[in-house]
Amino acid sequence: MAATTDPRPAPLAERAASAPVAGAAPPHAAGVAPMTSYDVDMASGRRTILLVEDEPAIAEPLAETLTREGFHLEVAGTAAGAVEAAGRVRPDLILLDLMLPDGSGFDVCREVRRDSQVPIIMLTARGDEADRVIGLELGADDYVVKPFSAREVTARVRAVLRRTATAAAPAGASDANAPVEVAGVRLDPATRAVTKAGAPVEVTRKEFDLLALLMRSAGSVVTRERLIDEVWDVNWFGSTKTLDVHVSGLRKKLGDDSAAPRYIHTVRGVGFMFAGAGGDGPAR
Ligand code: CA
Repeated sequence: MAATTDPRPAPLAERAASAPVAGAAPPHAAGVAPMTSYDVDMASGRRTILLVEDEPAIAEPLAETLTREGFHLEVAGTAAGAVEAAGRVRPDLILLDLMLPDGSGFDVCREVRRDSQVPIIMLTARGDEADRVIGLELGADDYVVKPFSAREVTARVRAVLRRTATAAAPAGASDANAPVEVAGVRLDPATRAVTKAGAPVEVTRKEFDLLALLMRSAGSVVTRERLIDEVWDVNWFGSTKTLDVHVSGLRKKLGDDSAAPRYIHTVRGVGFMFAGAGGDGPAR
């Protein structure tokens, strides 16, 4: 999933070398923590979470709860430290505060996304809708709004890990891994690549999952509820606006026009439908 090359631009990476990294701990201790049934289901040992948060009053109780829940925690208090730690420990998930002393969580998100698809959950301030939209467009997977309970964050972490584990399930089983092509758009679950008329289209993981679901049902409406349940989680307690942000991101990347969509049609009050079967012209 993640390439090993490391083409980071100088500024953050250089600062990282001297940045303090709180809570440095040995990577991936053997899975000795008490396991919940979920962990047993995941069955591949302890998961490492990189918590990026500069406020001890938030970071400490959260780290404590997540550790008690069986996760291995790595904590960074700066943007530079976060980028450094992400490259060093290769976490299974990143919890990312946006306001950091030496920069923004968006920079961290952008840097990390250069070579990694690690799930990222943003920790955002209440009412900062714009922040969430930017973060999701930069490839964050989800967000929680401050103030949050450690329990809420833990639930979200588990949901995101469960979802990404499903998305990364090994090939071989079922049609879920067969490439789909509709109206010149081709999606290959094995490589998670999307092309339009042969040209690559860069999409985030959520956009990929969303597109996959829509394309597999091309010609029929997929309800908002089903999209949220399957691409996010049945227990999703965020705004359904997230779905609209992702649809609009996909449209932009596919060169689609929401006023006269060619690929993703809005069925008002119900859901979305990928390019009606039959009536489509040649791919642009
Ligand atoms: Ca902060």
